[in-house]
Amino acid sequence: MAIYKAPLRDMRFVLHEMLDIERHLAGLDGCEDATAETIDAVLAEAARICEEVVLPTNASGDEAGCTLEDGAVRTPPGFAAAYHTLREGGWFSLGCDPAYGGQGLPHTLAVFFEEILQSSNLAFSLYPGLTRGAYMALHHHASDALKAAWMPRLVSGEWSAVMCLTEPHCGTDLGLLRTRAERADDGTYRISGTKIFITGGDQDMTDNIVHLVLARLTDAPAGTRGISMFLVPKFLLDASGEPGERNSLGVGSIEKKMGIKGASTCVMNYEGATGWLVGEENRGLNAMFSMMNHERLMVGQQGLALGEVAYQSAAAYARERLQGRSLGGAKSPEQAADPIIVHPDVRRMLLTARAYNEGARALFGWVSLQVDRMERHPDPAVREAAGDLVALLTPVVKAIFTDNGSEACNLCLQVLGGHGYIREWGMEQLVRDARIAQIYEGANGIHALDLVGRKLQLHGGRLLDRYLQECREFLTSVRDRDDAREFVDPLAEALVRLEEASAWLRGATARDPEEIGAASYDYMRLLALVAFGHMWARAAIVALDARNGDNSGFYESKIHTARFFVRRLLPQTASLLATLRAGADTLMDMPAEAF
Ligand SMILES: Cc1cc2nc3c(=O)[nH]c(=O)nc-3n(C[C@H](O)[C@H](O)[C@H](O)COP(=O)(O)OP(=O)(O)OC[C@H]3O[C@@H](n4cnc5c(N)ncnc54)[C@H](O)[C@@H]3O)c2cc1C
Repeated sequence: MAIYKAPLRDMRFVLHEMLDIERHLAGLDGCEDATAETIDAVLAEAARICEEVVLPTNASGDEAGCTLEDGAVRTPPGFAAAYHTLREGGWFSLGCDPAYGGQGLPHTLAVFFEEILQSSNLAFSLYPGLTRGAYMALHHHASDALKAAWMPRLVSGEWSAVMCLTEPHCGTDLGLLRTRAERADDGTYRISGTKIFITGGDQDMTDNIVHLVLARLTDAPAGTRGISMFLVPKFLLDASGEPGERNSLGVGSIEKKMGIKGASTCVMNYEGATGWLVGEENRGLNAMFSMMNHERLMVGQQGLALGEVAYQSAAAYARERLQGRSLGGAKSPEQAADPIIVHPDVRRMLLTARAYNEGARALFGWVSLQVDRMERHPDPAVREAAGDLVALLTPVVKAIFTDNGSEACNLCLQVLGGHGYIREWGMEQLVRDARIAQIYEGANGIHALDLVGRKLQLHGGRLLDRYLQECREFLTSVRDRDDAREFVDPLAEALVRLEEASAWLRGATARDPEEIGAASYDYMRLLALVAFGHMWARAAIVALDARNGDNSGFYESKIHTARFFVRRLLPQTASLLATLRAGADTLMDMPAEAF
């Protein structure tokens, strides 16, 4: 079985030592009570409950999967009990609005709980994760009447919510969707159509399930401008607000799939189901983006969460497994062989995973803090600046964290050799579970396009300018730190490459629009390496200042990992710059029939 202990020490390092979270939160509306003690206590208890209650359902849930019996989905044994324990403990409402029964804690704290939950059981975490995304969409766009009827029980976790976009012929290109909505005389709508791949479309853990369905009114314009969002519950509410009559929707089937087997993936049929409009007619995509922006960050975090479990499991194995001798001479001469942790190639794999994980955790904390500032800072200019940074980095978090997470799981499986490939050690489940995060919530290539084709263009390039400015200010602030040159100088070089890539892109895409698609993935990875480099340089400086105190082992490891990152991963920025400059013709010149 995979090994996992919530990385509380590293979380505290990010929150308190790198981000100085308490000071930042003190200036935000409603965050005054988020003291260091509260934050640490919440995370310690989150670790305890997830390790004791959720983690034990992970391998068994993968083994049992979900089943469909008489039109109803059964989640794996233990899921419902774990869900109820967490719900009763108030864990699903941490970051939600107190007006609806939430605890109003900062987003930055809630997401660290979510990382622990995802590491403990990714499939399980999707059910409350999607509800939280739906909460965001309803909070921003639903009428007061809809909010009053549905929000309190979604916040408490008594009811869950799912998002329903995908149809058999319509995945990335939502403009193609066909699910129909007809106006009824009573102000509601009748929804008809088939959705596929709906995570949590049905389950046996909550008394009701809210489906946020994208559909097209009969007189709507074609394409994405004709899409509306509807709240379509599994059970309609009776006069007292309790689930009553069954709505006209049902599960056609559930998918057999590669991973996250404990998460039901449903074909949903809506046959004139009663729905309520959320937001305005034909503005459904806008409403869904409130949900998707949260989900994209959450899905990115899934890469980190599984990479962490993979790393912990592989590091423990590598210290124990005896094979071969160290090239530098036997390290354990009293044993038949040395542990494989002595081999440089094994260390390469472990350190890659560790540098991805800890860099991602720091970056995720930083982006989450920007989310809190964007939502709660009293100064509109600060809110705008934070919103720009979140918008720019959301595709990076979604796509690069999940690509790295998948790579980390694969590398860590490799550390176990054949024992990683068989089921017993839990590594192959991690590889299978991590794979979906690169696909759902928009395939990663689409996020690269979003970054280059949209985010870089917004407000005349303001988003990127703000981020570059942030990095330059950091470099200026550490200009006199001679002890940190080895971390800071490579970041400065990588930043110049990012600026060169951005300038090249502006010129190239003006000449040929194909260049956007051809360069987008390399550009996104280059930006991500700079963002990770920024975090690693900050982490190294904090560790340099703290390493003579208690806990010096922790800080020395931070410095080692930072050094690995800047010397062995950050130089990839040079090859990425060269690759994106190779131009679109290297991809587009070959005729389609030649493939
Ligand atoms: C397990 C699972 C759970 C899911 N959960 C949900 C859910 O809860 N709700 C929901 O609505 N959906 C869900 N999905 C659907 C998921 O979001 C889609 O599968 C995903 O958005 C990709 O759509 P697609 O599979 O149709 O691929 P396609 O859109 O057919 O894309 C195939 C490939 O082509 C590329 N591509 C497509 N268009 C372009 C373009 N314009 N430019 C460049 N490249 C392009 C894509 O990047 C991708 O690599 C789930 C899917 C799975 C497998």
